[in-house]
Amino acid sequence: IIAPEPRSKRMGLAEMLGLKSNVIPIIAGPCGIESKEQLKSVGNYLKSKSMKLMRGGAYKPRTSPYSFQGLGEEGLEILREVGEMYDLITVTEVLDVRDVDIVAKYADVLQIGARNMFNYQLLKEVGRQNKPVLLKRGVCATVMEFLYAAEYIAAEGNKKIILCERGIRTYETSTRYTLDISSIPIIKKEIDLPIIADISHSLGRKDIISPVAKAVFAAGADGIMVEVHPNPKEALSDGFQQLDFMEFTSLLEGISSYLKAY
Ligand code: PEP
Ligand code: MN
Repeated sequence: IIAPEPRSKRMGLAEMLGLKSNVIPIIAGPCGIESKEQLKSVGNYLKSKSMKLMRGGAYKPRTSPYSFQGLGEEGLEILREVGEMYDLITVTEVLDVRDVDIVAKYADVLQIGARNMFNYQLLKEVGRQNKPVLLKRGVCATVMEFLYAAEYIAAEGNKKIILCERGIRTYETSTRYTLDISSIPIIKKEIDLPIIADISHSLGRKDIISPVAKAVFAAGADGIMVEVHPNPKEALSDGFQQLDFMEFTSLLEGISSYLKAY
């Protein structure tokens, strides 16, 4: 895939997800699935905003082993049920090779998180699945290493890969990570796969989400990922960066000119 086929043969984001080309390319939803009520509330809201894609973690990679680790299979069941209820494509992280089959049983898109971008065994395993993979850039990965990680998935036969720039670690502390916006057009030149940007995890704050979302669309991103929670203050993870429904609505208004094409 690093030497792409003619562009016309390649799949865009919508086609990869089995959607019509006019899908609004925003993957929104909570950091972690906490309960059925929580996810239903998000699903209902996203549907009311014509969203088609919902995220939510059932297996959470947390810095501390004492923090909320996710609901596991129970979370996957909730994700599938709510996804079906509101006709939303579901995206969730698979943390471990041993969980690939079960995550693939419940979710529509398998997410490989930043911490696992270098987990080549896991990449190979999702490469053998018949589900699209959302591959996040590692926090210390170069663009080339990121593309080789995608190559690991493709080499096993799975060409449905959505890349996700989610910020890299630098000396800057005003954001959680430094969103490497230039990687988007660079990757677009190198490889013919859709690339989105996770603005929530890269920024780790929500006061500058709208200008940054505009910047990633202007840089050519095919979509964004953003964390949305009914009550971020009570969230079991990443409460400081998750948008509440009003904040997400104003983000949509802020970036509406970039969404007109959809
Ligand atoms: C996530 O999307 O839930 C997540 C943990 O992100 P990242 O792997 O980019 O840190
Ligand atoms: Mn999170």
